[in-house]
Amino acid sequence: MAQRRMLSKRISQSKKVNRLPLKAQVVWTWTIPYLDDYGCYTGDSEDIKTEVFPKNKKISQRDIEKALGIEAEAGLIVWYSIGNGQLVQQYQNFDDFQTFKSDRPRLSEYPQYQPNNKDIIPVGNQKIPEGSLSKVKLREENLSKEKSKYMEFVFLTEEEHKKLVSKFGEEGTRKRIKALNDGIGSKGYKYKSHYHTILVWERTAKEKELAQNPPMRCGTSGCKKMGVQKRIDGTGQVYWLCEDHQIKPKPLPEGTPKPQMKSVPAAKPVDVNDARNRNRRALGVK
Ligand SMILES: [Zn+2]
Repeated sequence: MAQRRMLSKRISQSKKVNRLPLKAQVVWTWTIPYLDDYGCYTGDSEDIKTEVFPKNKKISQRDIEKALGIEAEAGLIVWYSIGNGQLVQQYQNFDDFQTFKSDRPRLSEYPQYQPNNKDIIPVGNQKIPEGSLSKVKLREENLSKEKSKYMEFVFLTEEEHKKLVSKFGEEGTRKRIKALNDGIGSKGYKYKSHYHTILVWERTAKEKELAQNPPMRCGTSGCKKMGVQKRIDGTGQVYWLCEDHQIKPKPLPEGTPKPQMKSVPAAKPVDVNDARNRNRRALGVK
């Protein structure tokens, strides 16, 4: 990833950029320093949130996800899955905004969009004009893997399936494949990547759960810290206590032998002649 980028004024003059909603404009511009030399960067909203917007409370992961969709539709990026469920984005016409010194080779950190590679699948309906991307020798990735069918409608590569199992376990994976299979079967949903759909559904479910059960704050009045200890009061009501207010185990009763302290090695004598101490003395520091 580049540490800094020389950017052109053309960005703020671009009609396409100016037509974006404000949040998408922020997402689009703030991501630029993170792009590799071919204008590519992760297209995973969770990773972007963590890397680009760790301290920005006004831009949520959901905002980023939405912004990517809008940017892709506007033809500012291509947003694509690279076959193992990983999402990547590539800025279109990146070279117009960006000058490269010719004395250093360009670095590629992500597979670039390749229209003829069947494992590189654009998210949603994107129009990708020819010649809008950096012209480079495209990196051949070992992406080509046959997809197998799970239940009636779900297609996953062996690697995708393996990844799901390592994430959710055999049973959890089966449940999730079944949910997707039912969705496709009953509602006719169409998805380019079933693997990615399962991950997106998972994320949505988690967000929903978090919204319904917000992490609890400390129940001590006036304390705003997050609870770390779950307690139940006399009426069966659940409450939380923070690190400072949590209830610690009672001290041992009188007469219990104290655990033996390990002996501490004697402190090293101060070297009065070392350079630092000499300097301190010279300055009159006690
Ligand atoms: Zn507290």
